[in-house]
Amino acid sequence: MAGPRRIIHVDMDAFYASVEQRDRPELRGKPVIVGGLPSERAVVCTASYEARRFGVKSAMPVAEAVRLCPGAALLRPDFERYSAVSAHMHEIFRRTTTLVEPLSLDEAFLDVTAVVAEGGATAIARALKDAIRAELLLTASAGVAPNKFLAKVASDLEKPDGLTVIRPEAAEAFALALPVRKIPGIGPRTEEICHRHGIKEARDFLRFDGDALLRLFGRFGADLHDLARGIDTRPVAPERARVSIGIEDTFPADITGFAACRAKLADLAARLEERMAEAEARGFTITLKVKYGDFTRITRSKTLSEAVAAAVPIVAAAEGLLRDTEVAARPVRLLGLQVSRLVDAHAGQLPLPFTPSSED
Ligand SMILES: [Mg+2]
Repeated sequence: MAGPRRIIHVDMDAFYASVEQRDRPELRGKPVIVGGLPSERAVVCTASYEARRFGVKSAMPVAEAVRLCPGAALLRPDFERYSAVSAHMHEIFRRTTTLVEPLSLDEAFLDVTAVVAEGGATAIARALKDAIRAELLLTASAGVAPNKFLAKVASDLEKPDGLTVIRPEAAEAFALALPVRKIPGIGPRTEEICHRHGIKEARDFLRFDGDALLRLFGRFGADLHDLARGIDTRPVAPERARVSIGIEDTFPADITGFAACRAKLADLAARLEERMAEAEARGFTITLKVKYGDFTRITRSKTLSEAVAAAVPIVAAAEGLLRDTEVAARPVRLLGLQVSRLVDAHAGQLPLPFTPSSED
């Protein structure tokens, strides 16, 4: 076998909030919360570091965040703008390698094994961070390691603006000593299960046999012996060449009304989910196509913070897009749904339930 792989995980710091602070100088140095309105039972997408000092966290209800930090600026997410920044970030990555696997709008794995030169992967990671700072006026944190699991853990260790390197010869000792909560995929609930069984550090998983870990942690349990020893063989899976997967229906007779269109969308999304499963793909951008009775045609798109493949999130996005059309007032001849910005369904997801960093 060849030498160890060199993997870099890059993760923008407080991404949405940092883009807002960059574009609106009056917000710099101030607490910023990006999310919906408290009345919508929304949750925090991202909080600036100034807001985090008040205890505000990603995924917390916005109502609670506003109670903790009443002075924060509360902004709605502008995914189109974040998506444009993300596209530029990927352009920077692709100058180094095409082996780039997006994990969310602001996180990606790069396999730089084949392109390392003098200074190694660490020099590449530093150059990526420098380019992001120079061209995007934003900071990112990077982790350099022999595999995806450790690179992801590493990028989180010195946020913001961090650079953490785990040398191949240090990987096992590093992994064994990891507090379980640092393992991507282990959230508060799983951490509680761990603690109930006396599992504090990754090395403690090795006291349990494979069957016991499967019983305790489901499918995730199958990976824990390897992860505890710093082993992860999953390849970096680049973004798909295929651009989009879509489905559409022309109706035998024009349909009218929002409710009728919404019902059709649910049906389209269910079929789209099957197509996504067949293609083993997930995608970040949902596009709704409407052709009215007079043959005029419009499209509406939304880019999500995570790649999706299931009907439920697709319908949720499509419904929002449908409100931005005239289907309530005009007859509709055709509806279509499309998912684009595709990634491999298993990339960064299975068997390890990697999720984008909650604290991004
Ligand atoms: Mg981030």
